[in-house]
Amino acid sequence: MSWRNIAQAAFEALSSPIFDLEVLGALKSLKPRKAPGHDGLHPIFFQKYWNMAGPLILSYARIFFEGIHLPEGVNDTFLSLIPKCDARETISQFRPKSLCNTAYKIIRTMLVGHLHPFLNDFISPFQSSLIPGWHQITLPKGEGGLDVPRAEGQNLALLGGLAWGLREDNRPWSKVLRKRRGQSYLEFSPNDHYSTISSYTIICGQNKTRISKDLIWIWKVLAQPRIQTFLWLASLHKPPTVEHLCSRGISTSPKCFWCRAPEESILHILRECASTTNLWSSLGIPPSKKGTFVLPFDERLKLNCEAYELHSLSILWKIVFPYALRSLWKQRNKRIFEGYQPNTTLLYRKCLELSAEYFASMKHATTKSITTIQDKWSPLPEHWIKLKTDGTLGSCDSLLVEGWALRDGLIMALNSGIQFLLMELDAKDTHGPFRMA
Ligand SMILES: [Zn+2]
Repeated sequence: MSWRNIAQAAFEALSSPIFDLEVLGALKSLKPRKAPGHDGLHPIFFQKYWNMAGPLILSYARIFFEGIHLPEGVNDTFLSLIPKCDARETISQFRPKSLCNTAYKIIRTMLVGHLHPFLNDFISPFQSSLIPGWHQITLPKGEGGLDVPRAEGQNLALLGGLAWGLREDNRPWSKVLRKRRGQSYLEFSPNDHYSTISSYTIICGQNKTRISKDLIWIWKVLAQPRIQTFLWLASLHKPPTVEHLCSRGISTSPKCFWCRAPEESILHILRECASTTNLWSSLGIPPSKKGTFVLPFDERLKLNCEAYELHSLSILWKIVFPYALRSLWKQRNKRIFEGYQPNTTLLYRKCLELSAEYFASMKHATTKSITTIQDKWSPLPEHWIKLKTDGTLGSCDSLLVEGWALRDGLIMALNSGIQFLLMELDAKDTHGPFRMA
């Protein structure tokens, strides 16, 4: 069915005449004691007094479906904040709940019923093509997934927590439940301690299925989470390239739109395509990482994302590299969907701009975690290395010289792979020694 036909069919379904029984059916499908909206009337009121309230509800529904017009005020909604825990200090400790009038809920239920047969046609296949199979995204990150919780397992685990809490709850309803249900839930945990996370793991049996690849390194890459998620998709060869869409029967030709190479794979986009090779040569791959470009795709990603070498603009290559990958993917999408002509100079600038921004934010975060520890000399803890600077250079500002010396020392430490570094500065205006947390 073409898009035009779907739209026409959906329009006809929405504008088809409504029947009194349909309105009554929608009302009956609502839970009788669902929280009411601003009119304060539960569904049970309309269900019980349908003879009296029915004509008003029917006229509401007709006005909407025949005139595509919502009577004023019918969708006014109360927002209620339900506390998630005993502490109520921040907004995130509340769950917002919308309270709508029953008349509006009836219209909404009917609308869903009319549109339901067309929902699958409205969702583009390109949207589902990004998701690499659901069972994969619900796996923990350590097992190659995205750690997205499975609703069913999470609900059961939370329910278990509530049942656990009933043990010592002295409210009357808890006592009634205890009497009626017995103490069987007490056996759930052997150490008098309930953990929602471990219950969820047990319920979902997550250790049974595992993606064979070790992808935990991706979540340690120095980049924003959206870049990490892109690396995760790329490692699994899941971004919707035309080769990928072809294998799923969504596209007919696997050729690259830009250079007409026989297959547009993720490897092709990020390594081989014409504009891609231009970007890599403009960026200047560190000499020690040039060899990695012929390695298998995953190995190349990992080695470059862990590289300590500095790019020529003094930004770590392991930051520039993932941002370059993501920029290449974005450029490819703009080319296909917006007819954008690749421009290596602009792409190069954008990539370095984003990397520099992230690098600066990272340095800021590191600076904030510097703490003064001691004034007297004492032996260094095991595995620690001391960096001592002496900032004296003619009439220059001693703090500035100290800063330069510190910068050079830190670059040396980074290039040597030192992880625990104690810094000692002797300029008057600085407060040393410091320790990198
Ligand atoms: Zn190409």
